[in-house]
Amino acid sequence: MAENQSRIINIVANDNALSLETKRVLKQRLEKNGFFVPKGFDKAAELIICVGGDGSFLRTIHTYDFPDIPVIGINTGHLGFFQEISPYQIDEFIFKYKKGDYQTQILKSVCAKISMKNEKCDLFGINEIGIRGNKSRTIHLNISLDDSFLERFSGDGILVATPAGSTAYNYALGGSIVDPRLDLLQITPLAPINTTAYRSFTSSVIVPPEITIRIYPEYTFENSILIISDGIEYRFSEITEISLSLSDKKACLLRFQHYDFWNKVKSKFL
Ligand code: NAP
Repeated sequence: MAENQSRIINIVANDNALSLETKRVLKQRLEKNGFFVPKGFDKAAELIICVGGDGSFLRTIHTYDFPDIPVIGINTGHLGFFQEISPYQIDEFIFKYKKGDYQTQILKSVCAKISMKNEKCDLFGINEIGIRGNKSRTIHLNISLDDSFLERFSGDGILVATPAGSTAYNYALGGSIVDPRLDLLQITPLAPINTTAYRSFTSSVIVPPEITIRIYPEYTFENSILIISDGIEYRFSEITEISLSLSDKKACLLRFQHYDFWNKVKSKFL
């Protein structure tokens, strides 16, 4: 429980040495500024500070089931697309936070509704949902946009990436970088086969938010499929349909005034 009704801030850190040291210093500085930092995770907190890389940010969002509480990241990782501030900017961050000198960025997720013979299950991804064959076998997927058939995909699999995830795995696969102010989903192939035997699109296909991407697997070798949500892998058997769409389940990220997506892209990639 917070003492004297202090404003509560959760700190979630990965376990590398820099993150743990940053967490220690951050807790001290926040308490000096009148905030209360609980030992565990407090649902009544006004802010979550995530210390680590983008991977830590993604794990925090999944661990706490897409919390309504806004998140700010301190980057002790490698790339830091979501992670806004550096460990040496802690004082500046607290000063600006207390003044309310920030904006919020909403990151919509992609939802995969998975139908199996006898059950259903929903998975969510902030970056993407990946669909791959089990044991590195070729996968064949009949893909429709709403009720309109698009292609019979053959290859390693596909990603369905959000705008926020466009700079992650999607980019490594040759997908497009998308301005996060746009609402859309990008279907990006993993090693598509395009021969006289099998015909698949070799580029990404971009669809508007009102469309549902419907995927019907064809089983050639075995009936298991891997679904990967933000790097977390699940194996399913006997999937009859996967339908993917933009979801209202979201993460809320704090951004400071200087944040500009395309400057960030240039500074990280060029
Ligand atoms: P991870 O080690 O946590 O992340 C792999 C790399 O992707 C890290 O450098 C990470 O940045 C970066 N990253 C994550 N989200 C990003 C984003 N929205 N924009 C730009 N870079 C981003 O790997 P993981 O646990 O397997 O999966 C987490 C994410 O990594 C997945 O959602 C997927 O998009 C991505 N991934 C990429 C590849 C690839 O590029 N070939 C392969 C597998 C997974 P930090 O260094 O700051 O953590």
